[in-house]
Amino acid sequence: MKKDIKLYLVLPVYNEEEILELNIKIIQKFFADLVREGEIDADSRILLVDDGSTDRSWEIISKAHTDHPMIEAVRLSRNEGHQTALYAGMREAYLSKTETVITMDADLQQDIHAIPRFLQAYRDGADIVSGIRSSRKTDGLLKRGSASIFYRCMQLLGCEILPDSADYRLLSSRALASLMQFEERDLFLRGLIPSLGFRTALVEFEVSERAGGKSKYTLSKMIKLGMSGITSFSIRPIRLIFLLGFLVLLASGGMMIHILWDYLHGNTVSGWSSILASIWLLGGIGIFSIGLVGEYVGRAYMEAKKRPLYFVEERLE
Ligand code: UDP
Ligand code: MG
Repeated sequence: MKKDIKLYLVLPVYNEEEILELNIKIIQKFFADLVREGEIDADSRILLVDDGSTDRSWEIISKAHTDHPMIEAVRLSRNEGHQTALYAGMREAYLSKTETVITMDADLQQDIHAIPRFLQAYRDGADIVSGIRSSRKTDGLLKRGSASIFYRCMQLLGCEILPDSADYRLLSSRALASLMQFEERDLFLRGLIPSLGFRTALVEFEVSERAGGKSKYTLSKMIKLGMSGITSFSIRPIRLIFLLGFLVLLASGGMMIHILWDYLHGNTVSGWSSILASIWLLGGIGIFSIGLVGEYVGRAYMEAKKRPLYFVEERLE
């Protein structure tokens, strides 16, 4: 007999009035079926996080809450962005002492029918179940291209990101509790969550077109997310400056010999040697020093995040 799982399903919402009413209906029905089939406990909840919508979204959410007691909601005081809205929802779930939390987008582009597979992976022992897009055919060429370059860069910079992962995932209570120990403001969940460790499973899911409304991920929000991803996980860009400075200093040593050689053999016009020597030497020292200062700044930055050093997975007492 399967053990019922207490689940919080967290959905961030930002100005989704065109599709929200219908989507809540679909989600609510699917959720009620999961309860009836004994997949999840009757205490499970759908948690809608209104990320400071300015349209009728909150009105729709309030009505859904009145009609269905299993629907809970929080409304953020202003638009904080997808990642913060997800975090806010997970925090609520954590405070409600849930056994598991699943996050997914309220536009239902991510196939809700994958949820039983997430739950199965959890039953099989995974603490983190990450949704992986089976294809990117619904994305435009620009989004697809930029996403693949971005994932490649992130991996090169040393972040353990899963390619084609989405913020459609399940966390067990202990993975959730670990995530809540992070105090940083600059959230990039796709990088943070793999860094937790724990047993991780992957579940492929289909992505469909939006049923209505427009993507709320404007280009500027996407760039902001990408920059957060890179800067919050890696100080390698600074190390590259340091390396560049070192290489220029080395090259300037070679140039010194070359300049001196030309000078001694009288192959130069007057002033050439001193100008060229100072350009190379000062340039090298300059870049190297910036890199060196950057190394300290980068370390101070990483320390300032006060990330937890480790998480205990098991304890025998
Ligand atoms: N969203 C949010 N705050 C924002 C932007 C988006 O809560 O500032 C929500 C949005 O309502 C949706 C989910 O995050 O439920 C994903 O956004 P969207 O569908 O616009 O992104 P895309 O699928 O186009 O990448
Ligand atoms: Mg979407």
